[in-house]
Amino acid sequence: MGTDVLVIGGGNAALCAALMAAEAGASVMLLEAAPREWRGGNSGHTRNLRCMHDAPQDVLVDAYPEEEFWQDLLKVTGGITNEKLARLTIRASSTCRDWMRKHGVHFQPPLSGALHVARTNAFFMGGGKALVNAYYRSAEKLGVQIRYEAPVERLEIENGRFVAAWVGDERITAKSCVLAAGGFESNREWLREAWGQNERGEWPADNFLIRGTRFNQGVLLKHMLAQGADPIGDATQAHMVAIDARAPLYDGGICTRIDCVSLGVVVNTEARRFYDEGEDFWPKRYAIWGRLVAQQPGQTAYSIIDSKAIGRFMPPVFDDVKANTLPELAQKIGLDVDTFMQTLNDYNAACRPGTFDHTTLDDCHTDGVTPAKTHWARTIDSGPFYAYALRPGVTFTYLGLETDDTAAVRFGGVPSDNLFVAGEMMAGNVLGKGYTAGVGMSIGTAFGRIAGTQAAQAALAGAQP
Ligand SMILES: Cc1cc2nc3c(=O)[nH]c(=O)nc-3n(C[C@H](O)[C@H](O)[C@H](O)COP(=O)(O)OP(=O)(O)OC[C@H]3O[C@@H](n4cnc5c(N)ncnc54)[C@H](O)[C@@H]3O)c2cc1C
Repeated sequence: MGTDVLVIGGGNAALCAALMAAEAGASVMLLEAAPREWRGGNSGHTRNLRCMHDAPQDVLVDAYPEEEFWQDLLKVTGGITNEKLARLTIRASSTCRDWMRKHGVHFQPPLSGALHVARTNAFFMGGGKALVNAYYRSAEKLGVQIRYEAPVERLEIENGRFVAAWVGDERITAKSCVLAAGGFESNREWLREAWGQNERGEWPADNFLIRGTRFNQGVLLKHMLAQGADPIGDATQAHMVAIDARAPLYDGGICTRIDCVSLGVVVNTEARRFYDEGEDFWPKRYAIWGRLVAQQPGQTAYSIIDSKAIGRFMPPVFDDVKANTLPELAQKIGLDVDTFMQTLNDYNAACRPGTFDHTTLDDCHTDGVTPAKTHWARTIDSGPFYAYALRPGVTFTYLGLETDDTAAVRFGGVPSDNLFVAGEMMAGNVLGKGYTAGVGMSIGTAFGRIAGTQAAQAALAGAQP
């Protein structure tokens, strides 16, 4: 007997789809490009999902109402978001955790060092790896057939309907299909093409590092766009974090992130500041810093702090560069000492006295320096001083397939009746740019579940001609 639902991908979105389809009574096959030991894509690197709630809920304190979540999304995306799909995601985030628990996911409050998120984000006990493993276990129990090292290269689509997928020279048919194969962040050639050459003659993407899996090569995304699926988003928009310049090319994960930006200043290789380090809470800003660094010469910058910042952020995995004086620090990181000192002196002179509070948008700001630092601006004057070299770390890209509240792939505005999409492959519908921590998993969980339900319905209703 043929498979009802074929799920392509092996991360959170794919697993949510597979579990829902199986629960609905469909026979399901899941094709994961990675070998078993690397299964789970970027989802294995995650720690939490952002959840709406009107009152305290198990690990979540206070309330995080729909309107506040929506305003947060509106702000970070600059309005480049589909409100209907964004609100659908937000509402789904308030009810999905019981279902997640049923499939073996456990939650915990954030550890200290994860700033400002005890109210908004539910953390997975054991991290994303434990979540992915729990979902695979549950999927196996429900009879989902899982195949590893099965990268899908192309689909057969007839009149907007899924017919078959090809893995090498093997043709796999099913009555319906869910695409959840991630973005194209692991494909360095595509990133290079998207970012092009800058005014300095550099190819910025050559200096990018990929924070997660090497398997999200965007093969299916490219194929679908070539087949005429409706696109969403801009190929240069992505979740991009400033990470330690020494991080590995792939799979460095969260421990390579440098989280002290808002506690100090950031300078480029010309020893100049270039952006407000205290614009907003770090979870709402960390994902723009990769892009900011990408726009600097050599795609490199340096986060500079003094001893007052120590103990106030998650310590990075690599050693800091440490010096007793600022000129010595500049020398150690290879910056022009005079320019560096001018930048630091200008900044220090511009810091206005205030009451420092890293848990609120405090009144410590600069006056008379460009760019301004609008919160947490304290003079950098208490040695020892520390520096971390930063490079852009791509988390996931936003170019994807346009969809609607049924998660259907669309061709020329017409929704397919048996081909659906979830996760990074469609996150650009909600995230035109920017990011707020934990919303990637909220989108993948909401749309993975919808896609799985819809795919099961399409298959069980006998959608096969
Ligand atoms: C270091 C890091 C930390 C993060 N932390 C968080 C967090 O705490 N909270 C949050 O909300 N988000 C976080 N994210 C973002 C989050 O990982 C994504 O939003 C989410 O995991 C996307 O899920 P997905 O299923 O779409 O993609 P993935 O989990 O990446 O899964 C894609 C899957 O598709 C497979 N695949 C790719 N191409 C093919 C093909 N051709 N054929 C078959 N299979 C294919 C891959 O092997 C992979 O299994 C983080 C990302 C990274 C890299």
